[in-house]
Amino acid sequence: MDNFIYLDNAATTKPFAELSKIYEDYSSNFYNPSAVYNPAVNVKVLIEDTRRSICKALGGEQGNIIFTSGATEANNIALSSINLRGKYNLIVSLVEHPAIFNKAKQLQNAGENIIYAPTDNNGTVRLNDIKNLVSDKTAMVSIMHVNNETGAINDIKQICDVIKSINPKTVIHVDGVQAVGKIKVDLQSLGVDMYTISAHKINGPKGIGALWVKKGIKINPIVYGGGQEQGYRSGTENVFGILSLGYCIGKVVAEQEQNYNKIQLIKNAFLQQLTLNNVQFKLNSGNNCSPYIISLSFNNVRGEVLLHNLESHNILISTGSACSSKKPDNRTLKAMGLNDNLIMGSIRISFSAYDNYDVNNIADTIATELKNLQKIIRGNNG
Ligand code: PLP
Repeated sequence: MDNFIYLDNAATTKPFAELSKIYEDYSSNFYNPSAVYNPAVNVKVLIEDTRRSICKALGGEQGNIIFTSGATEANNIALSSINLRGKYNLIVSLVEHPAIFNKAKQLQNAGENIIYAPTDNNGTVRLNDIKNLVSDKTAMVSIMHVNNETGAINDIKQICDVIKSINPKTVIHVDGVQAVGKIKVDLQSLGVDMYTISAHKINGPKGIGALWVKKGIKINPIVYGGGQEQGYRSGTENVFGILSLGYCIGKVVAEQEQNYNKIQLIKNAFLQQLTLNNVQFKLNSGNNCSPYIISLSFNNVRGEVLLHNLESHNILISTGSACSSKKPDNRTLKAMGLNDNLIMGSIRISFSAYDNYDVNNIADTIATELKNLQKIIRGNNG
């Protein structure tokens, strides 16, 4: 990994080195937290301490944490906790991660009423749309805090205020996977009822996440068994994962502000260098975006081809569109109003605050590869 310039941190992040110490401790304290002898009880105590420390770090002491196998499961639990019965509706935005969007589709296929909230050209949900869509029939609204493809930030506080003023009974779930540690998250002041987090996006291990649930909000289990996690999520606890998640949240939340400032400078310097190289691009990640994620679109270039050309320079990015054929498929960029050509030519660059970047070199390499590709296309066309 160290040979690569890794710019795909919205997909996953490099685990903190300190996790090996957590693993070492876990290896000698490997007992099943449900067992009743003392060493096992001590493990249970560690889990409960971690639960509390995560709530505190997120300003969510008036709620509870349910540990899950990741954000996908946490999102599924959240959406499975409402009982629509063909009578009530669920609102999700058009740009949600598949862990929400596809669960909503499944409910829709089962005959439930799902309402899709559009976004503006920046990929953020408009308050006015929320105002028009929420009614006394709205059981739940699920809207992401930070979009994983563009970094667009939703104003969750205002959205919650509007929803609750129309229907105080509506449960508000927020997918906070790309927000925690990147922007300030204070669950109490945001006014949410449920909030999803994932460890591997904040330098933790894969396969562990959590759903924060405000006191008084009812959830339904989707996994039944031995009754762990207060019966909401059975299965022997992923102790190493839980302790690691607690460590990572504590660290990234404590360092959030200084990290944000560092990444903002990196984002600006990178875009400036692209501009100095006379690169023509559409920036899909405007001002109201997390600086950690930059979505860019180019005309007449396939993002996937650019990705592979950059890989030959050991630069790892992702495309903004999943397209195996000529037809680009990107729900988020489509919702933002981009045409097929720009969607096809989109890439995503995502930074980590725990890495350092030679942004001039990265921008220069992108500029060179882009110009080469555009030359080939011009040649083919004429
Ligand atoms: N939600 C968002 C916004 C994400 O970016 C991701 C990861 O890609 C997920 C949910 C799913 O997370 P996990 O891999 O922990 O299931």
